[in-house]
Order: sequence, then C-alpha cells, then structure tokens
Amino acid sequence: MDVRGYVESNAREFIDDLQQWLAIPSISADPDRHPDVRRSAGWLAAHLRAAGFPVAEIWDTGGLPAVFAEWPAADPETAPVVLVYGHHDVQPVEPLEEWDYPPFEPAERDGRLLGRGASDDKGQVLIHSLGVRAGLAARGGLGGSSPRASTVGAAAPPVTLKLLVEGEEESGSEHFADLLRRERERLACDVIVISDTTMWAADVPSMCTGMRGLIPVEVTLTGPVRDLHSGSFGGGVPNPLHAMAALLAGLHDEQGRITLPRFYDRVLPLSDTERALLARLPFDEKHWLAEAGESGAAYGEQGFSTLERIWARPTAEVNGMWGGHTGPGSKTIIPRSAHAKISFRLVAEQDPADVGEAFREYVAAHTPDGLEATVSVGPAVRPCHSPIDSPAVLAGRRAMQRAFGREVLFTKEGGSGPEADLADILAAPLVFVAVGLDADQVHAPNESVDVSLLLLGAQASAYLWDELAAADLR
Ligand SMILES: [Zn+2]
Repeated sequence: MDVRGYVESNAREFIDDLQQWLAIPSISADPDRHPDVRRSAGWLAAHLRAAGFPVAEIWDTGGLPAVFAEWPAADPETAPVVLVYGHHDVQPVEPLEEWDYPPFEPAERDGRLLGRGASDDKGQVLIHSLGVRAGLAARGGLGGSSPRASTVGAAAPPVTLKLLVEGEEESGSEHFADLLRRERERLACDVIVISDTTMWAADVPSMCTGMRGLIPVEVTLTGPVRDLHSGSFGGGVPNPLHAMAALLAGLHDEQGRITLPRFYDRVLPLSDTERALLARLPFDEKHWLAEAGESGAAYGEQGFSTLERIWARPTAEVNGMWGGHTGPGSKTIIPRSAHAKISFRLVAEQDPADVGEAFREYVAAHTPDGLEATVSVGPAVRPCHSPIDSPAVLAGRRAMQRAFGREVLFTKEGGSGPEADLADILAAPLVFVAVGLDADQVHAPNESVDVSLLLLGAQASAYLWDELAAADLR
C-alpha cells in the first residue's frame, strides 16, 4: 500500500483519535485545567505507544508535563536523528459566548474539525503518528501482506524519530529551556521539525523559514526633582518630554532605518532567490491593510516590500509614551520626567544582548545635559532562521511537494515561541513542516482545522522521513 492509500484508509481512525484528544481541555494558562493538561499528556503517550513507538514517556518539567517518544531507525548507527516539536496544551477559550460550538466537544462539519486545539497544535502533532505508520506501510513494514512484514528492520522508520510535545507552550514555555538542557542527550538530533505554524493558503502550500525575535526596553528621562512652573522656569532648563520626543523620533532615519549603533551589522540580507520566491506569494495589499486593523496605508523601511518588512527586517516600535499632565484642562508645567516603552523585532543573526547594549548607548548619546536617563531591558526572544537552501529545508520542501502535488513556497512568521531555544540548545537546524492556516482561527473563538490538509500533512510527514534519510544532514 502506498502512503496516500494508507493515510486515506486510516483517516477515520485518525479523526476519531484526534476528537478524543481534543475533548481534553488542556489549557495551560488556567490552573483549574492543569489536571486536564496532565490527562492530555497521558492520552498522547498511550496513543503513541499504541501507534508503535517503542518509547513513549511523560516527562516532568517542574511545571506541566511534556511527552517524549522515540522510534529508533532500522539502522540507528548510521540513520539521521530527527526530533519533532509540538505542544499538547491549548489556549484559553474565553469569551465563550463568541463560540458557535462548544470548544471541547469536537465535531466535524463541512470537512472541518471544530474545537480548541484542532489546528494549534494537537491536529498538527497527530499527523506524525499517522505519517510514520503510513511511511512504514509503504515500505512494507506494517501489515501482514508484505513478505518483509516479519523482519524486525522493516518495522522501523528510515530515521530515528523522536517526538517532544510540550505542555506549556501557550503559557510561555516557562520550563522548556531547562528541560532541553536537562535532557540534551536523549534529545540529541541532526534536525528539528517544527509543526506549529501555518501555510499561506490551502492552495498555496508553503513552509515557514524563520521567526523574528524580540527585545522590549523601557526608558525614563528625569529632570528637575519636581514639576516646575513653566512661566517661572520655562525656556531655562531642559524639558524631559521634549528630550524624549527627540529621542524617539530619532530612532528612525528618513529611509525608515533604525539608527541604533551597529543595529544592522549582523542582519542576514535576503538572497535574490528568497526575494523572488516571496514576491510570488499572492499578496493582496488591500486585504492585508484591512486585516491590519483597517490601516490606511502601508509604511516602512524603504526598498522593501510589505512582506519583507514584516518578516525579514528588524523593527523598532514605540509601544507607549507618557509623562507630565494628561488630565483634563491645562497645567502649565515642565514635567519632572518622561517615559517610553519600545520593542525591537529582531531577525537572524541579531543578538538581543547586543541590541540592548546599543540602545543604552543610543539613549546616552541622546540625553541632553541636565537630564538623567535610566534604561531597563526586558526578557528577550532570539530570532530563528532556516536557510531555504539548507539540506533539511530542501528535504522538507520535497516531502511537502510530494504530498501536495504542487510547488511549495516560503513564508516567515512574526511570532516567536521556543524554536530559538530548540535550535540553540540542541544545536540542530530547524525545518518547519506544518499545515495550519490563518483561517483556522487559532487562539480565537471558533478554532477549527481543514481535515483534508491534516491528511496531506500526514502524507508529507511520511515522505519527510525518507527525504531526511536521503539528505546530507551531517
Ligand atoms: Zn501552537
């Protein structure tokens, strides 16, 4: 039986299993639901064991449990090791009144499976348990009809397959980096497959190739020890709000580029191939502006398209600024202080620590005599990046193309999860193979998933192990 045939003949069982799992309300952000998150981990470990994974364990993290499973390759000495990452916790469901159906009573309607977690991320995790069995069936390693069925080697995938399915992704992955460090040896791998992103559209299959990082900062400029009468003192001492306005306005030059020292030194430029591929995505600016809160015009760094600006270029955004008198009526003062919160989105290979340091230097250089500046830097997320010409991404693309029967394009995503930690701590490249869509309404009321895309995803998963086994990953 070939991969497609196996996936299709096991589709009913796959959907039934997924519905069982989706009925468990594993909301990591809600302490009352933590027993359900634990139940969800137990369900998955049992499912993977039943699917044939010789190892399926629940890992304590100090917080909510993760599930680890492993299926060694027929030839574990030479086969590459692939780690699949996903998560089994889900987002909260409030406001409940905006749901057209109960979020934890999964049902099928018009080819979609409805329920919280259907797309993000339980559906996308489960495609791999169907995928690995479809791959084995196609190689003759499952079922009694094949002469190879009785040999042990045939019932093993062409790569050593490891699964790590986290239980705290939707609430900040608090214990995840520590878990990766603690279990570094058992998680050792040649490539990490992330199945927790989206494609451009059902008829435009694509792979994510990077996520921007983030560093938030806050700056305060302080002048006189108290607010001053602007009639008595105005014009004679520096005004912290004036200085703050100049400091913030100076963050960008006339080309929309950020003026921090060394800011672009480590930014990976887009290759011509990458730009050409991005330009082929059917991007409708009017539609995008409507999605962008009815924004009136596109705007940003000169020389780049909107998709390049939001995916592949770093940014500085003022998130808030305040100081002085903001109540009703007028109050003629020179305020004692001015405040602003700013966040930088970073792209590979920028280092958040460098950017924080550059911001401190920038503030020092833009603080007039007589004012004092204090800067605080919040917790950062590093950017991550998968080069489109790397062996792992090319293997992933071939697997997706075999499943979808058409060319697979590339996207990037704005959000950042635990991907950078995975790549850094396990020292392996990332490849994003996922079949979610924006239309799935993840994190929002009425989450659902296109069942036919999950089944194509299971086929892509089946092909992926062959493609990665054949790729030169080491
Ligand atoms: Zn997710």
